[in-house]
Amino acid sequence: MKKLTKQMIKDFALSQGLDLFGVANIERFKDAPKNMSPASIFPGAKSVIVVGKRILRGNWRGIEEGTYWPTYTYFGYHGQLNTTFIHTPMFETACLIEDSGFEAVPVYPGVTAGDYEPLGEPLRKDGVAPDVNLNIRIAGVAAGIGEIGWSKVFMTKEFGPRVRLACIITDMELEPDPLMKPGTICDKCMKCVKGCSACAIPHIKEKKTVKIKIEDYTYEWGDVHMGRCTLSYHGGDAMNSPFIHRDFPGWNVDITKMDLSEEAAYKFAWTLSQQPWRKSKEFSSGWIIEGHHYLHQWGEAGSFGVEGSRGCMRSCFNHLEKKGAVGQTFNNGEFIKRDRWLMPAEVPVRKK
Ligand code: SF4
Ligand code: SF4
Repeated sequence: MKKLTKQMIKDFALSQGLDLFGVANIERFKDAPKNMSPASIFPGAKSVIVVGKRILRGNWRGIEEGTYWPTYTYFGYHGQLNTTFIHTPMFETACLIEDSGFEAVPVYPGVTAGDYEPLGEPLRKDGVAPDVNLNIRIAGVAAGIGEIGWSKVFMTKEFGPRVRLACIITDMELEPDPLMKPGTICDKCMKCVKGCSACAIPHIKEKKTVKIKIEDYTYEWGDVHMGRCTLSYHGGDAMNSPFIHRDFPGWNVDITKMDLSEEAAYKFAWTLSQQPWRKSKEFSSGWIIEGHHYLHQWGEAGSFGVEGSRGCMRSCFNHLEKKGAVGQTFNNGEFIKRDRWLMPAEVPVRKK
């Protein structure tokens, strides 16, 4: 059986197309709630390998210009990046680990902020009730790849917030990577707050934060209003979606005044985003908030990122790139090149 070193696993993972690789020992999760701990998924785990892939800056170009949406959802979000571009090389890395006699559990990360209720009682005496939801961003911090910025978005030195993560839980003992000191990347500039048209990210003056401690470091970020964020991101914000005005004339909702829960926002956005050709018992609603004339272009994306992280990613990486705080640079200067567009919440009903 092949004897693997951490460097061999890392080299292999990067050769398969991943951009980021870091290791946390399982002890770094000792304070995690049991329903979020990798040790609840794999009780014999010794290490959590967190891997990541960049989101292309160009994935957002069409949305930033207000002209073209499918690229971001399909290549930078749920269409391919979350489902294939990270997971295929991660799966191959898990195969490599199992070839050396250790078990490897690849984890498809869930939504990080959900208020997940256990599904009934634990199935084993003194066990943890299903369904465990590992927080991949915290795992990324624990693996030393980066930090969580004020906006609650995970960021790295090379790409700023333009990254997506996944992880492998294994019983192979690996040397953990050093943790990143809090504040290494995020300078609390509040550009994300200004850029978030849903007013989902609190200003630092509001003192609404979430804190976690890993070893000697305390990490703190803004307590994002996930109801507003979810509704806006998935296309329910009248200021950010040209599609909703066409398909729901009269949807003149000021999302910044809404106080809905994340769960309610998901139910709403997912129901409304089911496409007509998916009409079935499972997909009973037929209205679209993402633009049915784009249907052939959006493809089987599953979950749509209509608002495209205007503040927490686009404003943020524009700021970080401008101040030289991220490794990857571009020849064409700042990402945000023109006055930014926002639709008035009240848009006159337009003819189709
Ligand atoms: S824009 Fe980015 S760097 Fe600035 S406070 Fe927000 S998360 Fe931090
Ligand atoms: S995804 Fe959009 S709505 Fe959500 S926090 Fe980021 S900028 Fe705000």
